[in-house]
Amino acid sequence: MPDADPFASAAEAGIHRLAIPTPFAVGRVNVYLIEDDPLTLVDSGPNSGSSLDELERQIAAHGHRIEDLGLILISHQHIDHIGLVSILAKRSGAEVAALDRLVPLVEGYREAAGADDEWATELMTRNGIPPEVVTALASVSRGFRAWGARADVTQSLQDGEDLRLRDRTLRAVFRPGHSPTDTVFHDAERRILIAADHLLAHISSNPLMTRPLDGGPRPQALVTYLESLQKTRAMELDLVLPGHGDPITDHRAVIDSRLRLHRRRADKIRRLIAEAGPMSAHELAQRLWGDIAVTQAFLTLSEVIGHTDILQNEGSVREVEVDGVVRFEAVG
Ligand SMILES: [Zn+2]
Repeated sequence: MPDADPFASAAEAGIHRLAIPTPFAVGRVNVYLIEDDPLTLVDSGPNSGSSLDELERQIAAHGHRIEDLGLILISHQHIDHIGLVSILAKRSGAEVAALDRLVPLVEGYREAAGADDEWATELMTRNGIPPEVVTALASVSRGFRAWGARADVTQSLQDGEDLRLRDRTLRAVFRPGHSPTDTVFHDAERRILIAADHLLAHISSNPLMTRPLDGGPRPQALVTYLESLQKTRAMELDLVLPGHGDPITDHRAVIDSRLRLHRRRADKIRRLIAEAGPMSAHELAQRLWGDIAVTQAFLTLSEVIGHTDILQNEGSVREVEVDGVVRFEAVG
């Protein structure tokens, strides 16, 4: 007997999962088609002809056309979620809604991506990633640039703002951490959360290090993420619809296991630093995961720095900078 469709209860609520191919290791991205008035799409898939074909085919399978879309919601700034927004909006005339702080990143996509890369290059260099890896990663990132595209946002949303559709109300709620613009869409009446990459069933979300958007200090992505998880944990939910993979029916169990994972990892990093420190974030990443594929170097670096942020806040580790490279050493 075939497995029951894990998205069946979403479909009963008029929310259809469309799985759109991406060029990234994470695999397909979940786009959600909400059959309501207006006909609504949450996220879009990356900017490619094959992704557009697939999206069009899957929308048609539910009896609709791209031209019928009336509203496109954007969950966050990553290119697998925003790439096709502009094309879809132009074809349909749909309104495009995004959280206020996400608007400049979507409308100024190229400039923002360029500034992100420059900032990431500096962060990687300061944290001990060898120059040839930094250069290789910068060119990988430029190679992916065209999978994203700018789009005009016609409706800027405030944190906590309600979007009223004919049959439901979706509240846009700010849940930063995986990215600095993560927005989840909450249907309180149906106890459904469209969560994008804020919470995934099969993998822990990467709290990626990101350029401060306000010119201030570097945001503590993992610390912020754990605070966001606690807020989501407190919500009464029956179904969480993620940006990749299967839905989540017990969000508290998933969140608790993520909280435990990060606590364990922070403790492990604290022990490594105490035993063999001072070490750079890159050296710590190698200790934890061995030789890292070039394309994973920024992810693993983000992961380590997220945890050294926790340890620094707790006062068990401090930064020492020698010749432009930051190393971590135990306190006491
Ligand atoms: Zn993402």
